[in-house]
Amino acid sequence: MRVMTAMSRSYAEVALNLPLDRLFTYAVPEPLRSRMSPGMRVLVPFGSREIGGTCVRVVPEDPGFPCKPVTGLVEESPLFSPAMLRLAGWIARRYGSSLGEALDAALPFAVRSGGRRRRVLVAGLAIPEAGVEKAVDELEERFAKQARTLRILADAGEELEVRELCRRAKVGESPVRTLAKKGLVRLARREQERDPLFAMRVEREPGKPLIPAQQRAVDTIVASIEAGRSDAYLLFGVTGSGKTEVYLRALEETVRSGRQGIVLVPEIALTPQTVARFRSRFDRVAVLHSHLTDVERQEQWRSIQRGEADVVIGARSAIFAPVPRLGIVVVDEAHESTFKQQNVPRYDAREAARARARFERAVLVLGSATPSLESFHRSRNGRLRRLDLPERVAGGTFPETIVADLTQTVPVPGKARFLTDRLRAAVIQAVARKEQVILFLNRRGYATAAICKACGGAVECENCSIVLVYHRRIRRIVCHYCGFERRLPDRCASCEGTFRLGGFGTERIEEEIAHAVPEARVARMDSDTMKKRGAHEEVLSAFRAGRIDVLVGTQMIAKGLDFPNVTLVGIVSADQSLNLPDYRAAERTFGLVAQVAGRAGRSEKGGVVIVQTREPDHFSIRLALRHDYERFAEIEMQTRARDGYPPFGHLARIVVQGPDEPEAGRVARELRDQLGEWIVDDDTALLGPAPCPIAMINGQARFHIVCKALRRSGIRRFVQVVRGRPRPKGKLRLLLDVDPISML
Ligand code: ADP
Ligand code: ZN
Repeated sequence: MRVMTAMSRSYAEVALNLPLDRLFTYAVPEPLRSRMSPGMRVLVPFGSREIGGTCVRVVPEDPGFPCKPVTGLVEESPLFSPAMLRLAGWIARRYGSSLGEALDAALPFAVRSGGRRRRVLVAGLAIPEAGVEKAVDELEERFAKQARTLRILADAGEELEVRELCRRAKVGESPVRTLAKKGLVRLARREQERDPLFAMRVEREPGKPLIPAQQRAVDTIVASIEAGRSDAYLLFGVTGSGKTEVYLRALEETVRSGRQGIVLVPEIALTPQTVARFRSRFDRVAVLHSHLTDVERQEQWRSIQRGEADVVIGARSAIFAPVPRLGIVVVDEAHESTFKQQNVPRYDAREAARARARFERAVLVLGSATPSLESFHRSRNGRLRRLDLPERVAGGTFPETIVADLTQTVPVPGKARFLTDRLRAAVIQAVARKEQVILFLNRRGYATAAICKACGGAVECENCSIVLVYHRRIRRIVCHYCGFERRLPDRCASCEGTFRLGGFGTERIEEEIAHAVPEARVARMDSDTMKKRGAHEEVLSAFRAGRIDVLVGTQMIAKGLDFPNVTLVGIVSADQSLNLPDYRAAERTFGLVAQVAGRAGRSEKGGVVIVQTREPDHFSIRLALRHDYERFAEIEMQTRARDGYPPFGHLARIVVQGPDEPEAGRVARELRDQLGEWIVDDDTALLGPAPCPIAMINGQARFHIVCKALRRSGIRRFVQVVRGRPRPKGKLRLLLDVDPISML
């Protein structure tokens, strides 16, 4: 056996957060040699800077070229366990990022950068709120970004961290600085505050006796935990079938055996109620949430690493929670596409959960009422063991369901209407009976387009090939991609015609309800109305207390709502998801309709679900209303098998983007030709290049090439070839997305 002496720890191979597929070797100076080990966070010189990186290997051999020395340690002990290093390596290979990029994604910012308690720059209004509108109007002509930034700050109703303000306004820091110079905004440095919601005390509550289906599921999962097997389960049960109770029991068993659990939920479901449910059963619960401040996140992370949390709840990135002994990973609402990260590394947290569970001999439980077809397929070929919760715990029947055909709506002259007579009458009746209504529409704003009455053209964004959405409250047309906004012009730029507003979003439905049922108290819940901290809670508790009759909203209201007095749920349009140019359109529609429909009729009052659509006979809508997942999956699987789409094939996609359209197109074609030389087997096809469905975003022209492979190895090959070629020059960018969720 070779003994590692201090002398032999002479060189460190370091992964850096750069898009380069290589490690960098640094000499380890004498005083650090005894401490240097894989997983350590180090500071190293790179070019003229000093940057942070992760030591992944310590080697004795002189690499044969001169190395600069490691200049310091960020931390005295490793931040990554061997299993986490392995997980990062797996992510890098699978999703085509560098190891350094994958490692850095796994660490909270404050931990990564040395954990100094930072004072952050915050921005607040320097003028009275009443003066904001005038100031915005004045700025708008020439300084659109400043105008938007000022308005967004005013909407927040409190100071915002500058970083957060920039994120919301989709701008860099310079408009904020200019606003400060103009005396409209005040900048200050402050200690970060704690989010009071998550420090909340919760009463302990014992679990209820399980019903037989739950008991069977728990027994099976617990057997895997006791045996220390990394078994993977699909817990298949409609909303209200008691899945969460099963997670809680499995977690209790995990904690009893001295291990910890991670629970991943979609960001949008990570509400205080969800957290409270876990806190009521465990003393030591940590929460990782995207709205935590850097300080909070760092504190949570460190206490998790010290083993002080038995259960970690979080969105996507919580899969990297550094629990010392992982026993179980639960992914709730596992069909949700938000588990896929949209920037580098573009990992899917569900797949990362599978990998991590395997590496650490932990149990994996994916829970859903409408599993993704990938999960369903795996449950058939044995890679996931299926556990069913076929009935709702509280009993109760599913609500009556009605499909309202939007093509049959009789237009009322002079008045645009978006609620069918059916839905409108049902709302009126429910309100008259003092019952509550939820109207769901996954589209914010007022009208989906401003259309010229003369030429029929719709106003598009200046930076994106996207039609602008009219927002009534701010009286502007807005780009939902880049944040661009402007006043609706009086006349069409090409033909001088006047505009009409076409299509509808949540704002317009709210207005229509206010007209149709004047006595109803209506509230809207979408990302436009939920900008103030705590607004979400405020609306939900008002709804719960009966102070709101009709709640109109986007997917924000589709999750976790459980209100006994809701007897009517309307899906204002199921067509938006159905018409997406995406092979998952039917699956998304099925999931959406089934989830929303599952919210109604939770009490003895019963309930009705009304779905408005232009395609009333579409199988995904019909079957969702019958809660017939199996039949839906059967039909949809045939289409997927025929076309070679997941789960029967695999996809990866490259987007070539740049400000110069001909150049981006030319590079995409070159890339396609180069790929074609390497990818020659019959099971792998290259499609494109073609302009992306959204051909321009933020002034960047976009072309994509799609790789469709029957076997995973085809995708791996594709990723290798793409990564192996030199990076494009100048302003061109190349985005690689493996297992893409969106093809837009
Ligand atoms: P899901 O996660 O599938 O939506 P939940 O676990 O949230 O289902 O259960 C739905 C409701 O039923 C909750 O209010 C929960 O407290 C209750 N519940 C769950 N299991 C039981 C049980 N065994 N006995 C009584 N009530 C239960
Ligand atoms: Zn735009």
